[in-house]
Amino acid sequence: MSQSIAVIKGDGIGPEIMEATLRVLDALDCGLDYHFIDAGLSALENHGTLIPKESLETIERFGIALKGPLTTPIGKGFSSINVQMRRHFDLYANVRPAVSFPGTRSRYDDIDMITVRENTEGAYLSDGQEFIDDGNTGISVIKVTRKGSERIVRYAFELAKNNGRKKVTAVHKANIIKTSSGLFLDVAREVAKEYPEIEFQEMIVDNACMQLVMNPHQFDVVVTTNLFGDILSDLCAGLVGGLGLAPGANIGESAAIFEAVHGSAPDIAGKKLANPCALLLAAAQMLDHLGMVEKGTAIRQGIRTVLETRRDMVTPDMGGTGNTDTFADALVELF
Ligand code: NAD
Repeated sequence: MSQSIAVIKGDGIGPEIMEATLRVLDALDCGLDYHFIDAGLSALENHGTLIPKESLETIERFGIALKGPLTTPIGKGFSSINVQMRRHFDLYANVRPAVSFPGTRSRYDDIDMITVRENTEGAYLSDGQEFIDDGNTGISVIKVTRKGSERIVRYAFELAKNNGRKKVTAVHKANIIKTSSGLFLDVAREVAKEYPEIEFQEMIVDNACMQLVMNPHQFDVVVTTNLFGDILSDLCAGLVGGLGLAPGANIGESAAIFEAVHGSAPDIAGKKLANPCALLLAAAQMLDHLGMVEKGTAIRQGIRTVLETRRDMVTPDMGGTGNTDTFADALVELF
């Protein structure tokens, strides 16, 4: 039986890397039925909105979307589509694996960790929810709830349990931000008791930054609140060679959206220089989520093989002499 998914090609390099990704998915015979939906700059032109109602309805219908990067127009009145979609579908878990690949410029080998970031509360509230902004003083709000903390920490433990991972580290700043970060830590400790087979560690965020840079191999699954997760997951992407290899999933109860962490890269759009790996790895996460773990693993292993053996097919950001299309060609040849 085929699985329907919504596909947003995206802006800038989006269409190029999406085409490459779909070619690889087709070569793997994943049985996916693509429903292309409009969002971003083209939707703004065609419908006067960055994310039309019909596009949201299609994601709602299938529950799964593969998304290229979208440009957020500069200027007042445009809030990020990504933030809008996270709110609309209550995509509370942002799941970002950081895995070492061969041939990347990185200080470490063999990193294999996942950050699980709370995606709907923390310091990222809707516009205008700041306490004070009178031009001289700015006071912002951090919102942490028991319910929000419970579901994200439980998500992290379940992820660890289902993937044979051994340890969950809760990252916080409960010593200073006692009310909100303190609540998150209390809840994390409570939820951890339900998983005695998984080691639980707690770490203050500043120490976590240092430990990640000095000894990243000690981490397995990291769970944290929105702002810390935003920062730490980019730090982790840096540990494994940067944005070209960083995928992310936004997961809720009724929908999940898979995307590359990088943006629409307007500086290289249309030149076929974009590395398709981050979106391909997001597609691999999507296949895992759909229960096609073998196919997800095949994509990850295929990228590894191409990076090791086909430098002539790899994009210039990874030191290769190929382009977006040849990278996909090399993968398609493997399957
Ligand atoms: P960016 O990630 O688009 O680009 C940063 C740098 O990395 C650029 O030099 C770019 O050429 C390079 N780069 C990015 N992806 C690459 C790839 N796959 N292969 C090779 N090089 C790559 O960040 P930016 O320039 O700050 O943002 C551009 C636009 O993207 C903005 O409108 C921003 O709002 C949007 N954005 C969207 C998302 C998303 O949709 N998830 C995420 C981040 C930024």
